[in-house]
Amino acid sequence: MQQVRSVWTDCPEFTTFSAEELAAGFVQSLASQLAPGRIQPSGVNDLWAYADPGKSFIAFFNEARLLSVMESAIAASKAVNGIRLKVIPPGTEGSWVQSEKIDAVPSWNLALFLNGEDPFQSAARQKTAIYAWTGILMAAAIVLLSILLAAYLGRQMRLTRLKNDLIATVSHELKTPLASMRLLVDTLRDGHCDNAQLVQEYLQMISRENARLSSLIEDFLTFSRMERNKAKFVHTHLKVDEIIDTALEAVGNRLHAPGCRFKVDLKQPLPVITGDRDALITVFVNLLDNALKYTGESKEICLRGFASNGSVCFQIEDNGIGFPRNASKKIFERFYQVDRTLSRRTGGCGLGLSIVQFILSAHNGSITAESRPGKGSTFTVLLPAAE
Ligand code: ADP
Repeated sequence: MQQVRSVWTDCPEFTTFSAEELAAGFVQSLASQLAPGRIQPSGVNDLWAYADPGKSFIAFFNEARLLSVMESAIAASKAVNGIRLKVIPPGTEGSWVQSEKIDAVPSWNLALFLNGEDPFQSAARQKTAIYAWTGILMAAAIVLLSILLAAYLGRQMRLTRLKNDLIATVSHELKTPLASMRLLVDTLRDGHCDNAQLVQEYLQMISRENARLSSLIEDFLTFSRMERNKAKFVHTHLKVDEIIDTALEAVGNRLHAPGCRFKVDLKQPLPVITGDRDALITVFVNLLDNALKYTGESKEICLRGFASNGSVCFQIEDNGIGFPRNASKKIFERFYQVDRTLSRRTGGCGLGLSIVQFILSAHNGSITAESRPGKGSTFTVLLPAAE
């Protein structure tokens, strides 16, 4: 421009002349400092310069433009799932997974960000969760196994103890009637007894012992069925009167023997009940049998029945020897006898009431006992009425 002006006197005024001169001067002074083929700071704020390898030209970019060009280059490249690349100008603060210097723009970085959660952290967290859950599950399995094992061992131990008790009781209980029967039979066989009335008495004693043996064996069998949970009850609708009549028949005329006053008091109408006929008869037979066994010479026994709040309530009351208050729960335990010698004499083995309780609980019923020693006892049975 200066040369043109020197040869052309009428040359018009270049309005941008001083700016062009300034720019040319700036470029000239910058060219010596710029490394070719790199985008570098120009020294002017926000302005970056690029000189080609031969330094035949210098290009200037402002920072925003440079950023947008590089970002559109990144956007045009193939995206990798879960990963984001970003150009980071110098002096930018932030947190990224990894950064790499950009060769063409030395002080700029290309940073790698993860979309969403850090996969390493989440994998680590997932692994920790898996370990924790495995630990919890294993601990729970061990606890469960221990509980099951303890329950199984407990049951086995209980059964073994019961078996031992049963064997001891059975052999003891069977020994006495068998021994007395053998003695009576031997006496009759040896012909030592020629008195017809005495023979008759002996035969009656044998028959009594026999009946006692049968009832003992029946008790043992019922008990062992109960223990093996094999007692299957057949539930049907039952009339209370019929159950009581059959139970009274089974107890026999002992209730009407001399010295025994027996009363049945059934308040009608009584609701129908559901249950196993034979099992419920056993309940009343056992309770009446006890009332007879544990009363003295002058017996007063009463069997009451009445409807009570959707149930049928039975009371078997006697004026017998009774038992202390602390025995009122224990008498329902297997083999428990308040007075062993007395119970042995009367032919019991401590199973009658536990059988009664088992049957009643299988019928959603209950039994309680109240007694005063020497004054008598009352057994109260509750059975739900049929719907
Ligand atoms: P047992 O075969 O010995 O009679 P039970 O289970 O029927 O067995 O009764 C357990 C114990 O409860 C009896 O040994 C007796 O001591 C006591 N008992 C049961 N019924 C009566 C009763 N009506 N009066 C007094 N004591 C009773």
